[in-house]
Amino acid sequence: MLPRMPRAIDDTRAEFRARQARLRARRAEISAQWEERRPAPFRLTRQIVPGLYQVRTRGSRAYLVVEDTVTVIDAGNPGSGERILAAVREVGKTADDVRDIVITHAHIDHVGGLPELQKHVPARTAVHLADAPQVASEQPLPNPFMNPVLARLLDPYLLWTDPGPARVDVLLNDSDELPVLGGLRVVHAPGHTDGSIALHFPSRGVLIVGDAMQHKLGRLMLPSRLFSKDLDEAASSIRKLATLDFETLCFSHFRPVLCGADRRVREFASTLDRPAQRAATG
Ligand SMILES: [Zn+2]
Ligand SMILES: [Zn+2]
Repeated sequence: MLPRMPRAIDDTRAEFRARQARLRARRAEISAQWEERRPAPFRLTRQIVPGLYQVRTRGSRAYLVVEDTVTVIDAGNPGSGERILAAVREVGKTADDVRDIVITHAHIDHVGGLPELQKHVPARTAVHLADAPQVASEQPLPNPFMNPVLARLLDPYLLWTDPGPARVDVLLNDSDELPVLGGLRVVHAPGHTDGSIALHFPSRGVLIVGDAMQHKLGRLMLPSRLFSKDLDEAASSIRKLATLDFETLCFSHFRPVLCGADRRVREFASTLDRPAQRAATG
């Protein structure tokens, strides 16, 4: 039989454990208060319109549509999963509330965090059918660099950081409508990748274009030449987006245009050469 510990030592240990438990509870309380009242510069989320939040992930911006459930739009670079979950908590929801994930296109800065996110949330993942095979493939994601020298240089790094395959549950097509925020319309906007999509919320007057367009120094621009498969096709997609009505335009890497955005896109689209004209002028 083991000798009995003197009562005084027993008491001291019990007191020590109780103090540790009190400290842990206090730390959890402070961290919950911080998540709730975090001042703007330290917040992960920014409200665009009621129910729609932008999230700073690693390397890009994701979006949260917050209703009874949460829809996550894009998953950032690898390592973004935990940050997206913290953003979900910041808007007062839990991982179990995330029921849908929609991906704008299959570049690593948009799907890199997807496998880790899928481990923690009971959500269905929707991707346009042209990009879905790349997301679900056992093969590494395609190298996004169009310049062959850059592509070869960065290939080892991309292979090293490749997130691995993710689950795709829903294949999206042009004009599909999802029951999110009063109706979310999928607009196929190829050019940057074959399966790039924009997401239109007519009831909120918001269009999310992912990487289908850039917004630099206050100017709208074609998607980056460095990472886009076909700029003529991207220009056609922008002309298509210019037929929609929306007040606010959101991107994956740039500041949003908060008002009068459809007029700005129509003006920009009117400056883009038609492919036929380009061919005609050689
Ligand atoms: Zn991209
Ligand atoms: Zn991107």
